[in-house]
Amino acid sequence: MRTLLVTGGAGFIGGNFVHLKMHQSAERIINLDKLTYAGNPDTLAEFRDHPRHVFIEGDIGNQALVGHLLREYQVDAVVNFAAESHVDRSIDGPAAFIETNVLGTFSLLDSAKAYWGELEAGRREAFRFLHVSTDEVYGSLGSSGKFTETTPYAPNSPYSASKAASDHLVRAWHHTYGLPVLTTNCSNNYGPYQFPEKLIPLMIAKGLAGEPLPIYGDGGNIRDWLYVEDHCRAIDRVLEAGRPGEVYNIGGDSERTNLEVVDTLCALLDEAKPSSPHRPHAQLKQFVTDRPGHDRRYAIDATKVQTELGWRPAESFESGLRRTLHWYLENQDWTQRVTDGSYRGERLGSA
Ligand code: NAD
Repeated sequence: MRTLLVTGGAGFIGGNFVHLKMHQSAERIINLDKLTYAGNPDTLAEFRDHPRHVFIEGDIGNQALVGHLLREYQVDAVVNFAAESHVDRSIDGPAAFIETNVLGTFSLLDSAKAYWGELEAGRREAFRFLHVSTDEVYGSLGSSGKFTETTPYAPNSPYSASKAASDHLVRAWHHTYGLPVLTTNCSNNYGPYQFPEKLIPLMIAKGLAGEPLPIYGDGGNIRDWLYVEDHCRAIDRVLEAGRPGEVYNIGGDSERTNLEVVDTLCALLDEAKPSSPHRPHAQLKQFVTDRPGHDRRYAIDATKVQTELGWRPAESFESGLRRTLHWYLENQDWTQRVTDGSYRGERLGSA
């Protein structure tokens, strides 16, 4: 049985990756998560007593703990989702982003390198360290062009700068020490289990509550949206068939302005809740002061992962958004427990 050390697996994308793996593979998941505000044990409730899922509450920067987990469970691959991930929080308090995204990634790389160096030849060759990163490291685009794997880094926020630094460390651990790393840079994700501070779940929660829908600036900022399950399948593909030392850009070819995203959601909400007193939901839209340094446009050229590894997204933006809205409608208790803070009382296990 193959064993993966998944870090940040109680978060949005990591949690979805754990679901994918638990349902579609026979691999064992060692799930290391610090359970910051963004880590939600409710997301993993289904696997609480599952023999193939081991949850450990802990920090990727804890070398003694990580070293112990790698050896105790004879880990075959590390998939690093653990990060501070919210741009607005990085503007208000960048320290945690440097701590986890830069120093934490450094520490995790060093722990993995020491363990990898001890493996016998066959397992050493098969070992992988996959680092999950973002397209935000490339900065902002004008009205044309897309980010490729060779686009120069130009991060603009404390968040993207910290992720850029982590990507450079991962690259260096390959070139200097030979660690078989893979890096994925993905566009904006949406889907189930996303913390309701991010655009789409925030708009769903506010729309359902009949509260104003805050839109930064003129709403014209463009993101390239990808349904989270498609991202997780891409990560899985890169883990299986990606070439060590390579970078793979992942995107859904679904550029939308924030205003278009909110308008589509409002129409879906109108359709799902025909008797809502807030209908039409578009009347709840409210333009608010823009985020400082707000990147205007991101777009991914995913040709490499498509041609080399045969990955394609299964969902269009509209079908993925419909699935997402239905998930939030059917799981309002999940959002409720985040909103009232009770999700933080749950503990799955500890180290
Ligand atoms: P998230 O904030 O939802 O989850 C992050 C998880 O990491 C949480 O469970 C948190 O508790 C955990 N964590 C934080 N610090 C930790 C530490 N020091 N040790 C162990 N665990 C820790 O984030 P997400 O949206 O799921 O993003 C996951 C990764 O994907 C991040 O690296 C992010 O940069 C990247 N990414 C996100 C998006 C997106 O749209 N959300 C897009 C591209 C890339």
